[in-house]
Amino acid sequence: MMKALSIKNLQKTYKNNIHALQDVDLDVEEGDFFALLGPNGAGKSTLIGIVTSLVTKTAGKVSIFDYDIETDFSAAKACIGVVPQEFNFSIFDKVIHIMMTQAGYYGLPRQIAYARAEKYLKKLNLWDRRKQSVRSLSGGLKRRLMIARALVHEPKLLILDEPTTGIDIELRRATWDFLQELNQKGTTIILTTHYLEEAEYLCKNVAIIHQGRIIENTNVKSLISTLDVETFVFDLTAPLNLDFSVNGFKTYMSDSHTLEVDVPKARSLNDVFRVLLEKNIAVKSMRNKVNRLEELFVRLINK
Ligand code: ADP
Ligand code: MG
Repeated sequence: MMKALSIKNLQKTYKNNIHALQDVDLDVEEGDFFALLGPNGAGKSTLIGIVTSLVTKTAGKVSIFDYDIETDFSAAKACIGVVPQEFNFSIFDKVIHIMMTQAGYYGLPRQIAYARAEKYLKKLNLWDRRKQSVRSLSGGLKRRLMIARALVHEPKLLILDEPTTGIDIELRRATWDFLQELNQKGTTIILTTHYLEEAEYLCKNVAIIHQGRIIENTNVKSLISTLDVETFVFDLTAPLNLDFSVNGFKTYMSDSHTLEVDVPKARSLNDVFRVLLEKNIAVKSMRNKVNRLEELFVRLINK
């Protein structure tokens, strides 16, 4: 099987002597939907930057569909579409102009360029806004415009750096659906994220990066199945002492009305409810906390 991305022994040391990437080996198969998951500062954007030739590597080898990014630069570049973490267009430009300029950059004839712009702006619900300036778009729509722009030359590999950060839930869902459809039609997708949920919902395979090193590389399902603690957040109707505890569980009070409890899979939530009942504490609502990523890191780093 062809590899969409192959990275061997990649190193990046910035001028300030920060080792942003150390001994990174990574392969992504053609057709995969791959997550590079890690906290802020882990090295995700540096890795994406090197793959897309915006950042120079210190050492190592990177190939895109077997094209070396150094010796086969143009061929490699033609295979990639990238959605960077930061907005990088002129906010006074019109939406359609952004698309046409990008198409021109890839040498597409005008007619094809316009057809592609129409196709992807429609898919991302931006066609009606094609004559508006980028400035008038919400953060979420700007992000979607960057996705449309990255697709204008129909790359085989789409790379997105934190594509849904700062997007509201509705638009996030729509963006996820769009990416899923794109992947199903054959585009290989790599995204970086610091949301485990995003990787879980979208991706087949995942690499976890921590302090510039890949500390896990597996399929998402088996990664998720190793998690054995869930945190529940209880919103309480009455305030509680901040040093309140439930015997046998790790608890935190994030404020006087919010109790967080770590519940191992083997244990029952009933035990938590029992203690709360005994103390006459009523629970207004309960939700599952999104912090399983932290648990993963603790486990991986100590293994
Ligand atoms: P992530 O995208 O996972 O948040 P980054 O790749 O942006 O991580 O950063 C990795 C590390 O490299 C961090 O410690 C960051 O401060 C540092 N870093 C990133 N860009 C630069 C730069 N241009 N110059 C110096 N240090 C940088
Ligand atoms: Mg980043």
